[in-house]
Amino acid sequence: MQKIAIFGGTFNPIHNGHLHLAHCFSQKINFDRVIFVPTKTPIHKEDIFLASAEDRLYMCKLAVQGTNYEVSNMEVCRQTPSYTVLTLEDLKRQFPYDNLYFITGEDMFLSLLTWKNPARIFELATICSAPRSGEGMERMSRYAKKLKELGAVTILENIDFLPISSTMVRTAQKNGKDISNMVPTTVMEYIEQHHLYKR
Ligand code: ATP
Repeated sequence: MQKIAIFGGTFNPIHNGHLHLAHCFSQKINFDRVIFVPTKTPIHKEDIFLASAEDRLYMCKLAVQGTNYEVSNMEVCRQTPSYTVLTLEDLKRQFPYDNLYFITGEDMFLSLLTWKNPARIFELATICSAPRSGEGMERMSRYAKKLKELGAVTILENIDFLPISSTMVRTAQKNGKDISNMVPTTVMEYIEQHHLYKR
């Protein structure tokens, strides 16, 4: 039985905070596979400058070069919206005998009950999450109790989070600031070459 982790996100763009989160959980749980799954259109976010799905997918591929991580186009290519439950159902069909894990940061974890069919998500995958703020762990522990009532198995890790967000990267890039400490060099070069996040 393999341990397969799915890391869903807008990745607009992927940054070192994402990679750090994936790395911390990989070390703790010893996943056989870690699959980054960029969303087609973010369901939980509005009013952001969104690079194309192709650009976001490509940047993910650049970011995982030289690692064992994989990038999937399954949500980008799907005709229906990017619901996590559908992605997990697809993966369960592909890997019926393996254990699925879903990696998510604090903000997304704390919104899980508003997602489509959370109870089914919890049947399909163990939820792995970590804070992005000083008080995050406390908030998440309280929320995990509510999720447990719906059958969720959660693994919360109090990691030293990196205070980076895609919004910070986009804002810095728009203002001509250095983003080299927030994203891998290959991603920074791609952003520059393709004039992303300039407006
Ligand atoms: P934005 O600033 O555009 O809202 P974001 O930085 O939150 O983007 P997403 O692609 O929306 O990035 O995040 C995908 C997943 O990664 C989410 O579950 C989010 O909580 C998590 N995540 C993002 N940045 C971090 C970070 N620095 N530390 C831990 N988790 C993170």
